[in-house]
Amino acid sequence: MASRAISDLHPQLQPLAETFLRRCRDHGVDPLIVCTWRSAAEQDALYQQGRDKPGLIVTYARPGESAHNAMLYGSPAARAFDVVPLVGGKPVCDADHPHWQTMGRIALGLGLYWHGQLDAPYREFPHFQLSLEP
Ligand SMILES: [Zn+2]
Repeated sequence: MASRAISDLHPQLQPLAETFLRRCRDHGVDPLIVCTWRSAAEQDALYQQGRDKPGLIVTYARPGESAHNAMLYGSPAARAFDVVPLVGGKPVCDADHPHWQTMGRIALGLGLYWHGQLDAPYREFPHFQLSLEP
């Protein structure tokens, strides 16, 4: 099970994530963190999906390549977190919902990289990252 804990983020990213969540709520968005850190084995299982296993492709990163797999001094230190906005307690799946743009603006204002932005190498709306390098 992938982690949803802020404490599993890179030390530099933890305060930014806290501020991000607070500003989202200030702007009327109800953010739910769905993933901070995941192990190489969990990354491998995700990578198989849509390739060797049924389902849609959900990641382009092999084990160890994802910003979610990053470690620091032997401990989880993810350089990215995945967040979905909730409306009425349910995750918003529509990429055109205005909450995504609100979250993107807030993240960019904090110097985070958002994979939903137009020039992203691939679009992944829930993915917010410390910097483009994994
Ligand atoms: Zn992600």
